[in-house]
Amino acid sequence: MPTFTPPVRDMAFVIEEIGALDRISTLPGYEEATPDLVSAVLEEAGRFGAGVLAPLNPVGDREGCVLEGDKVRLPTGFADAYRRFVEVGWNAVPFDPDFGGQGLPWLVATAVQEIWHAANMSFGLIPMLTQGAVELLSAHGTADQKALYLEQLVSGAWTGTMNLTEPGAGSDVGALRTRAVRDGDHYRITGQKIFITAGEHDAAENIIHLVLARLPDAPAGAKGISLFVVPKFLVNPDGSLGKRNDVSCIKLEHKMGIHGSPTCVMAFGEDEGAIGTLVGRENQGLALMFTMMNNARLAVGLQGVAIAERAAQKAIAYARERVQGIGPGRDAPGPIIHHPDVRRTLMTQRALVEAGRALTYFTASRLDIARHAADKAERAAAHALADLLIPVVKSWGTANGVQVADMAVQVFGGMGFVEETGVAQHLRDARIAPIYEGTNGIQALDLIGRKLIRDQGEAMGGLLAEIRRTEADLAESGGEGLERLRLELAAASTLCAETVAWV
Ligand SMILES: Cc1cc2nc3c(=O)[nH]c(=O)nc-3n(C[C@H](O)[C@H](O)[C@H](O)COP(=O)(O)OP(=O)(O)OC[C@H]3O[C@@H](n4cnc5c(N)ncnc54)[C@H](O)[C@@H]3O)c2cc1C
Repeated sequence: MPTFTPPVRDMAFVIEEIGALDRISTLPGYEEATPDLVSAVLEEAGRFGAGVLAPLNPVGDREGCVLEGDKVRLPTGFADAYRRFVEVGWNAVPFDPDFGGQGLPWLVATAVQEIWHAANMSFGLIPMLTQGAVELLSAHGTADQKALYLEQLVSGAWTGTMNLTEPGAGSDVGALRTRAVRDGDHYRITGQKIFITAGEHDAAENIIHLVLARLPDAPAGAKGISLFVVPKFLVNPDGSLGKRNDVSCIKLEHKMGIHGSPTCVMAFGEDEGAIGTLVGRENQGLALMFTMMNNARLAVGLQGVAIAERAAQKAIAYARERVQGIGPGRDAPGPIIHHPDVRRTLMTQRALVEAGRALTYFTASRLDIARHAADKAERAAAHALADLLIPVVKSWGTANGVQVADMAVQVFGGMGFVEETGVAQHLRDARIAPIYEGTNGIQALDLIGRKLIRDQGEAMGGLLAEIRRTEADLAESGGEGLERLRLELAAASTLCAETVAWV
């Protein structure tokens, strides 16, 4: 049974037809993103994902990560694979060429990233968080912070982390208690963060932590949070590594899935206080952190799509091989794919994967327009639409990831429950995605409480108008199959419009 076949043709189709590559490649800076180049990038990424990362996926699951003193050892092969990943330039795909990036659209980078997560979700988390750190520092870092950190983060030589969660502050980030005290031109950070993905590991020479903390005189709650860059090794002005900062991993979590990803309890300032520099202004931290969080929310939704793709591939391969019973209209025992219930399951999986991919890439393409379009109004509309869709991509994509992986286990029957087939790993791995990066319940609050209410449904109105245009196109195209689709779409869009009006 093949372990993983990157669906590069399906990806190219969505990039071109739904992400509208022809429009994206007219945006200033993206002129080189031609269909040929995109196909070549996807083929190469597919080779790396299938050839290097996928074989390590079960290794990571079996071995997990090990804490030795304050050092974390990744599973066998992960650190080497990461170094190759960096050498080939995979970390730099969507970033600014001024800092060593390849300057490709997020539309393309999103597809490339899907391959990493499908091949090996634990591995994919390392570049995923680094990418969020790049986004954050590019948008809000001082000139010094950009000069010290960006090039190394863009290349992937150093990796990034996101430090929000504390024992008493999960969904309620405003409850965090980590302290930051002014000390000359920097700050001293003290406190404990939990559940920090890739907080410590042996794949990169430095780790750049982005940390939320509270000044002694800060207002209570979310309005009193500031954001700091806290490197594992301090960085000298010439870019060389200086002394070890006062931050370390003191515990690794034992988890249900993603065993290859170190989930760390991080202690800041056990001695003199970890040295950090402020990003933006004091007490502005949570708003700035949203740059990293939005990036991660889209990426976690994509993880749902990726893990669903991987699990669906396994299910269909098994259904073609496993002989059991006689299918309708057949006269001898044959593969279970002949049974209508199995076919229904496989087709539902496909539909969820493809719809999830379409929505995710579409949202990524809006981000490209939001940043690069010449026209201000077009940028603003694309930004509002991406903002609206990110909580949907995150929650729907991840719920589908669990559902599709669960269906894959079912297609395997008893062998699905047995670890040696590998399909159970996908279900265990998929289960974290509706939880982290803001639980799906928190995404719902974001969608209704912030995204819909803030603009009184304007962005949603724009989206519904676009859906109505699709309904009209379907009506014009004729054909019984399309008419059924049109009726279902019309019913769904009417329900959505009524719900928005009620809200
Ligand atoms: C493997 C892993 C990796 C992680 N990586 C990181 C990381 O890199 N950086 C980081 O900072 N954090 C990380 N996290 C933390 C993660 O983001 C949190 O676990 C998550 O945000 C939920 O917080 P919590 O666990 O405290 O749950 P709680 O906040 O206690 O929530 C428990 C339940 O209550 C619900 N709930 C809570 N508040 C509300 C509300 N206001 N309205 C409705 N329902 C509500 C939630 O939806 C959930 O179902 C990671 C967690 C895990 C397990």
